[in-house]
Order: sequence, then structure tokens, then C-alpha cells
Amino acid sequence: MADAKLIDECVHCGFCLPACPTYQSWGRETDSPRGRIYLMKAAVEAKRPPDATAVGHFDQCLGCMACVTACPSGVKYDALIEQTRAEVEREHPRAPADRLFRAFLFALFPHPGRLRVAAFAQLLYVKTGLRRLVHALGLVRALPPRLRALEALMPPVSAKTLGAKLPARGEARGPRRARVALLAGCVQRVYFPGVNAATLRVLTAEGCDVVVPPALGCCGALSVHAGREDEAKRLARAAIEALEREDVDAVVTNAAGCGSSMKEWGRLLEGDPAWAGRAAAMAAKVKDATEFLAALGPAAERHPIAVRLAYHDACHLAHAQRVRSQPRALLGAIPGVEIVEIADGDQCCGSAGVYNLLQPESAREIGLRKVENVLAAAPELLVSANPGCTLQMQMLLRERGLALRTAHPLEVLDASIRDDAGALGR
Ligand code: SF4
Ligand code: SF4
Repeated sequence: MADAKLIDECVHCGFCLPACPTYQSWGRETDSPRGRIYLMKAAVEAKRPPDATAVGHFDQCLGCMACVTACPSGVKYDALIEQTRAEVEREHPRAPADRLFRAFLFALFPHPGRLRVAAFAQLLYVKTGLRRLVHALGLVRALPPRLRALEALMPPVSAKTLGAKLPARGEARGPRRARVALLAGCVQRVYFPGVNAATLRVLTAEGCDVVVPPALGCCGALSVHAGREDEAKRLARAAIEALEREDVDAVVTNAAGCGSSMKEWGRLLEGDPAWAGRAAAMAAKVKDATEFLAALGPAAERHPIAVRLAYHDACHLAHAQRVRSQPRALLGAIPGVEIVEIADGDQCCGSAGVYNLLQPESAREIGLRKVENVLAAAPELLVSANPGCTLQMQMLLRERGLALRTAHPLEVLDASIRDDAGALGR
């Protein structure tokens, strides 16, 4: 149940409403942060779990945390929605099809081994021409919206992507300035191995010894954001244990969603006396790769890249971790790079973990607003620090028959350090 003290910190001023993407979409109080807090309060006062209508409004929340940034009273909506979602998952009986789809997603995404098998099946689906046939026959249109979204969001895979192997270690070039652990992630590891490879190369070029702990699996981010509290705790404990075996100054992640939830490990495990201290200590070491590198300062030479790029603020980096200036500073320091801002840049792209699979219509509506703003900025390259955001925007651009090269900030830095601008962009 949501914490009544945190609920009472809301003074109902409404400053958060214009910042909320679902309020922007539908203009309904119940789909705004303030309205959702009212619904939480009603459930707490009734001493009952939220009813089905309230659950619908909580499910429509992206968890983007734009309201946390906008709130002048410092209301911890992030903690409130996390507590509420956990209660919903415990107490609310979902329809069988909904339950099954959620079970499928969580049997797949936090498991890189299973994701790899799925990616291989996807490769066959594309390479055998089956996908083209399915589309030509209009079979995709007959799928339920969630499966249609899953099919449309499939990231491009190739035999090269699937065969890529990330080295378990990297040695600092020049004098050693730090020793760090790198989280390879789940989706990142399987579908975007180039981002991990680039991150490792940049870290070593900047004087870091890097270890990719072999036992480090899913950090629990997707589970925590979906209210699957027990699963999130189990994954977090396993990840903390794997990281404790390494003597590192920092734990570096290049996926915004993972970083935001790892930094909250202390809160997730605060009720567990055996783990609370360990979780808080490890969470304090977690840094987004851009945050870590900006603080470390440059050591490697930057070569010019002549490109006009738009940097997309991933919500879990900008709102949840307040990391906004560091990626811009790193990218802006590359000679030849011109950064253009995206209008309404603090708005979500609709990806939000698995939101675009669970609430595809809403995600699409929100995503289309983002894509319009990206196109208006007219960049040559779209840069984002979260794999989910990149996939969401690529899908919406593809739908419109448009292609825009995309990259992670670490791939841009890597291309500059290696003087290989031609390697940039997917
Ligand atoms: S969450 Fe913050 S900004 Fe929104 S109504 Fe409450 S106090 Fe105001
Ligand atoms: S987290 Fe995002 S979608 Fe949810 S209430 Fe806050 S601003 Fe709205």
C-alpha cells in the first residue's frame, strides 16, 4: 500500500499536470500525477487495494517521472507508484490474457540466454522471408495490439550481432585512474552488443580497468518498474552479490532504466536487515557511463566528427537520475559535433520499460509527439542512452517510411576516440 505520509506531501497545486504525457494525451485528472495520488489516497483511506478503475489509471502511467522533476513540493511519486504497483500485482486479479502476456514478457526479458534464443528465432523469421510474407498477407493486422507492438518493435538482428562476444575484462590504457564493473544488461547485451563494446573501449581509453562480472545478470529494473517486487528483490540480491566479488570503485551502466533502478537498490531492500546495508552501499557506486566519464574528465584524444545530432533525454536518466548535462558535455566536447535540442525534450517517447508492449496505443500516441519534435529538429543522428527509447523511435520512424541513424552517446565517443566516424549509426 502507498505510504500515507508520502501521499500527504502532495499539496494538489497541479504544477505537475502539464508535464505528464498521459494528461497531455487525454486531459483527464485521473490520468495525471495529482489524480493518481488522489486514487492512491482513496485506497489507503478505504484500507482496500485499488479497484479495477484505479488500476487502469495506474497501468496507464509510464513511470517516466516527469512529474517528479516538475513538482515544487518534492513529492516522491516514484516511490508512491512503485509501492502502488507492487500492491496491484499482489492483490489485483488480472484477466487471464493480461496475466499470460505479462508472464511471457517476464519469462523472456530478464534472461539474456532466452532473449538470445528469441533473437535467433527472429533472425530466421526475417531471413527466410516469413516476415515479408506475413506482412504482405496482412496477418500482422489481425494480431491483438500487444502482439502487433511486439512484432513491430523487434530490433534488427544479424548473425554478427548474435555472434558478438563482450570481453570479460579490459585493461586501462595509460596510467590507471579507476577500476570499474560494467553491467552488460539484458536487451543491451543481446540486441546492442556494439554499445557494450564501445562502452568498454571508451572506459579503457580513459584509463579504467574494466571487469564484466560473469555472474552479473539482470539488475531487476524491469521487474521493479512493473511492480513484481519479489522478483525484483531476488534479481537485485543476486546482482549485488556478483558485484561484491569485484573490488571496484564504480559500477557503470549504459542503460538508463537499469541505472535508475540500481541506484534505488537501498530503497528496494530497506526492509531486509541482511541486505539493506549491502544494497545501499552498492547502489552508491552505481553511475551512468556518461555521468562517470564526465566526472572522471577526458584523457584520450577526441577526433572530429562532423555531425548534427539530437540528444534524446531518456526519462530514467534525465528525470529519475537527473543526468542531463553530462551526456551533452561529453558529446559537445567532440570537435565538429553540433547538438540540437528536441522541443519538449523532457517528455517521454512512450517506451518506458515494457509500457509500449503493455499499453501500445497510448505509447504510440505519446511516441508520435516525440517523433514529430525529433523531425522538426532535423538531426543527422539521434542519440539516446536507453535501448528502449531507440527502439521505440526507430519503429515509429520506420512506420512513416523514414530512416534516421541512431547511436548511444558512448558509441559517438568511441567513434571519436578511435577516429572512425564512418562506424557511427544504425
Ligand atoms: S505532485 Fe507535486 S506538483 Fe503535482 S499536485 Fe502534488 S504537490 Fe503539486
Ligand atoms: S510518471 Fe509520467 S506518466 Fe506517470 S504520472 Fe508522472 S508524469 Fe504522468
